[in-house]
This record gives sequence, C-alpha cells and structure tokens, in this order.
Amino acid sequence: MNGIYELLMPGTVLYGSGSAKEVGKQAMKLGKKALIISDPIMNKLGYVEECQQHLKESGLACVTYLNVDSEPTNIHVSEAMAICSEELCDHIIAIGGGSCIDTAKAVSVLITNGGTMTDYFGTGKKITEKPLPVIAIPTTSGTGSEVTKVTVITDVVTNIKMMLADASLLPAVAIVDPNLTASCPKSVTAATGVDALCHAVEAYISRKAHPVTDALALTAIEHIMGSIRTAYEDGGNIDARAQMAIGSMLAGAAFSNSSVTLVHGMSRPIGALFHTPHGISNAMLLPAVLEFTMEASIERLAQIGRKIIANAGNYSDEELAICVINELKQLCFDLNIPNMKKYGIDEELFTQSLSKMAADAIESGSPANTPKIPTMEEIKALYERCYDYDFSAKMQLV
Ligand code: NAD
Repeated sequence: MNGIYELLMPGTVLYGSGSAKEVGKQAMKLGKKALIISDPIMNKLGYVEECQQHLKESGLACVTYLNVDSEPTNIHVSEAMAICSEELCDHIIAIGGGSCIDTAKAVSVLITNGGTMTDYFGTGKKITEKPLPVIAIPTTSGTGSEVTKVTVITDVVTNIKMMLADASLLPAVAIVDPNLTASCPKSVTAATGVDALCHAVEAYISRKAHPVTDALALTAIEHIMGSIRTAYEDGGNIDARAQMAIGSMLAGAAFSNSSVTLVHGMSRPIGALFHTPHGISNAMLLPAVLEFTMEASIERLAQIGRKIIANAGNYSDEELAICVINELKQLCFDLNIPNMKKYGIDEELFTQSLSKMAADAIESGSPANTPKIPTMEEIKALYERCYDYDFSAKMQLV
C-alpha cells in the first residue's frame, strides 16, 4: 500500500440511542451561549425544546433560529448570522437534516471570516479565521453532514447550489442519535437513505478513493443495503434506523475524505433549478450514471457486489457490476423514486436548462472524480436519458 492519506473527522463523535441528551455536557466545553439552528418541523416535533432543556440543565444560555428550509439559501444564512452576532453567541448547535447542519456550518465560518458564501465559492476567498464551534445533531440518515467538511448553500441570484469544502467546516462535535430519525416520513427516509448510499458508492468508485475511505464506504454500503427497505416500510423499527444512522455517518466520512462524483455533480443543478429534494435528484441519476461509468469501474462495482449480491462467487466481475446496477435500480423502484418526468419537471424548461446544468455540474469539480470523466455533451445526454428513465428495465447479464 503506497501513499500518504488524510482522514479528517469531527473532534468528537457520540453515537447511540439517547445520545442527544448529552448535548448540554458537550456544549459546556465549547462556550456559554448557543445559537440553535433548526427548522419548523424539528420545533413542532419537540426536538428543539428538548435541546433547550438540556442546555438549561447545564447552565447554558441559548437563542434560536428556526426558519431553515430544505435546500438552504444565502438568505437563511444571513438571517441566522444576524441573530448570532446580535446575541453574541459563542457556539452553534444544529438540529435537523443536512439543511440545518449546512446552514450552521456556513454561519460558523462567515461570522468569524466575514463576507458571504458567494465570496468563498469556487476559487474565491479563503477561510483563514477559526470558525465558531458547531455541534451537529442529525435527524435524517442521509447527508452525513455531521461528519463532513462540506456545506451546500444555494445562491438565490445565480440559482447555483454552492458547495464549499474546507477542514474548518468540520463540526466540533457530532451527536448521532438514531431515535431522532424515527419520525422521518417515508418520502424523507427514501430520499435521504439513497443520498447516503450515493455518498458511499461514489466515494468508493471515486478517483480520490483511498484505503481508509474504501473501508468506510464498503461498510456503509452493507449497513444501508441491509436496512433501508425496513426503515422505509417500518419507520419505527429502531434497529433499522440505527443501521441507517451508522451507514449514513460512515458514508459521510467516506466521501468527505474521498469525494463524490458525477451523480452529485449532476444532482446539484437539478436541485437548484427544480427544487427536488437532494436525495431524490441523486436517486434519479444513480443507475444511469453507473451504467455510463461502468466500463471504467468494473472491479470496484464487483467489489461492492461481493458485499451485497447473494452467491456473488458465481459471477464474473462484469456480471457482478451489472448485478449491482440492477440491484440499485430495483431499490429505487421499491422506494418509489420517480424519474424527472414523473416528478413533474417541465420538459421544455428542462431542455432549455441542459447547457446551464451541464456547465454548472462540470464547474463544481465533482464529475472530474468519476472513473470515466464525461464531456459536456455526454452530461447533457445523460440528463436527457434520466428525464424519463425506467427503473424497472434491468440490464442483461453478458
Ligand atoms: P433536509 O434537511 O432538507 O430535510 C428534509 C425534510 O425532512 C425537511 O422538511 C425536514 O424538516 C424534514 N425532516 C428532517 N428530519 C426529520 C425527522 N426526524 N422527522 C420528520 N421530518 C424530518 O434533508 P437532508 O437530505 O437531510 O439535507 C439536504 C441538504 O443537505 C441539501 O441542501 C443537500 O445539498 C445538503 N447536503 C449536504 C452534505 C454535506 O456534507 N454538507 C451532503 C449531502 C447533502
């Protein structure tokens, strides 16, 4: 094994049923006054109040920003920043899905470094100052944002989902309590679960994969494939939720230290323009993108097959790669993932947007991590193929 590899993780990761109760003890190490960033659904479910109670028991003050929406924008970030600076908060606690955690990460960096997210996007301004510490408490098993060095914020002017990756965006503490995910409705369980699966598969086939991310990604795939259907069908099954929470966290750690690839590169422009939930736009693309890149990733897909396909020893590598793609198609079908046409994306607007979406995908850098690097024209053709993709049509074994 040659090379020097880096593994970046949050300072502390707490995992387990009931771990959310530890938030007060963790927060005491970080400061005296917290800004809790969350959304109206988390508030209604009582998760915010529980957190406030734990902070109070630890003698800490807190204020809240509870207006995060799915696919957060620079407007959510600046609203939360205003509260953070007016109230002189010294740390941030995010409770929610990736949208709340990403908003918290963006606020934590901008408060100490100044400017807006747009300034830092691409080859822009660099983060030089230490951000406010963040405690990330995920309530979905999907993004893995609690352990990643990534935040994704949509610029409402350019309609671009800006992905910023920097070690300073790693939360100080991740608290992964699977009990909090049991309230996820079926649609959220499906979308976020496939997002986590995409992270693991993409991290594993990525040109930037390394031995540690390989181990994280393969274990994540096993956990997710072994529990996603149960979590979807029987949301109250805490064992399945726990497997998904581990899988999602490991998948996040895998892609944060390796990378995502063409699926995520093409998915962000769909989310920015058509406001599809992030996991759904990934799922709409995953099988078709794997078909495209299969010729350059047969060994890697076969290795995934050895983890998830019964009697894998009976197949050649190429056959196993096909079995894996068929298995993922079947999963999308079973989870009722719609193609873009069924989701209701307007065909004319979609066709008009092809060049912008393909250009934005390439600009994000993710497609270049794919084993078979696509051209602009190939990306446009893939978007067109995915528009009315048939998840029930299987590839034939060679
Ligand atoms: P989300 O945070 O947008 O949540 C989706 C919906 O589910 C929301 O309405 C939310 O209120 C609801 N919800 C969340 N948890 C719930 C629960 N326990 N019970 C009931 N309802 C619940 O969805 P997400 O997929 O977790 O995050 C998506 C965002 O994360 C996107 O903006 C995406 O680009 C970003 N993302 C970030 C990273 C990263 O590493 N930072 C990685 C992947 C995706």
